[in-house]
Amino acid sequence: MQEPLVIDGVEALPGKETLVEIEVARLPSGTLIHMPIHVFRSNEPGPTVLLSGGLHGDEINGIETVRRLVASKIFKDLKCGTVIALPIINVYGFIHFSREVPDGKDVNRSFPGNPDGSLASIVANHLTEKILPAIDFGIDFHTGGASRTNFPQVRYSEEDKLGKEVAHIFKAPFTLTSGIIPGSLRATAQDLGKSIIVFEGGESLRFNEKAIKQAVRGTKRVLQHFKMIDKAPEAKKVIHFSSSSWLRADASGLFVPIKESGQKVTEGEVIGRINNPYNSYSIKVKAPSEGYIIGHNNIPMVHKGDALFHIGEVEEIWKRPK
Ligand SMILES: [Zn+2]
Repeated sequence: MQEPLVIDGVEALPGKETLVEIEVARLPSGTLIHMPIHVFRSNEPGPTVLLSGGLHGDEINGIETVRRLVASKIFKDLKCGTVIALPIINVYGFIHFSREVPDGKDVNRSFPGNPDGSLASIVANHLTEKILPAIDFGIDFHTGGASRTNFPQVRYSEEDKLGKEVAHIFKAPFTLTSGIIPGSLRATAQDLGKSIIVFEGGESLRFNEKAIKQAVRGTKRVLQHFKMIDKAPEAKKVIHFSSSSWLRADASGLFVPIKESGQKVTEGEVIGRINNPYNSYSIKVKAPSEGYIIGHNNIPMVHKGDALFHIGEVEEIWKRPK
């Protein structure tokens, strides 16, 4: 039998689905904002897994991923353990089509948070106090920000052993390590001895069906590995990257990408152009080294120094044995 689990004063009973609605704070209009959380529990002991989206309120692919996983009903009959599904962490950003909360603060830079702090800090604190202590590991679903798009990828911290294992089981098309940003959900999770990996796919305010599907499939592989569900689709190919860096604009102008996220590039290859709108110059954007484009900028107007292509250096390519 599973251990008791209480979230925000609500007991989530084994063998049951429980909806916990954390009261966050009212809008200026007086409307109370809740953070609804679905808790699915098996009778059998097993891992407690957090699946979360909308930490950045405009990163809709992650919200849709968690919604679809819940709608698929695979958590209704968990073989063991617990799934905590949190579709929208930052409801304020979501209703404003915004990454941040209304005062401009980023919830993912406000951890561990403070119940008497700013709104972003209050939202972060609910996770730190009520959710993180209950979990073994989590998958937090994001997209590129500020008109940048990311090819479906999983990021983990090299020091986080369980996170590394989960990332390798997930088998997103691209897999890479990334540093922990101070004030992030991952930073606080790590301080509490919990593992959070991040899935990135597509861009903010846009659905990206390929990214959503990869996110759903990878999550199923992780849950199947821990014997929480029976079936999961197999992955075909995973590229692991040893390092990555952003290629920046040498000039300001109209940016026309020639290659895009997911594609292979060779050293010196022309992968885009920056054109002056009055045709006084046209500059080639060349790949500095061989690798794959793991993310790119989708906005046509760029300043000198703007990030254009995120290029990863391949460490290893895994293919499903035939
Ligand atoms: Zn994000």
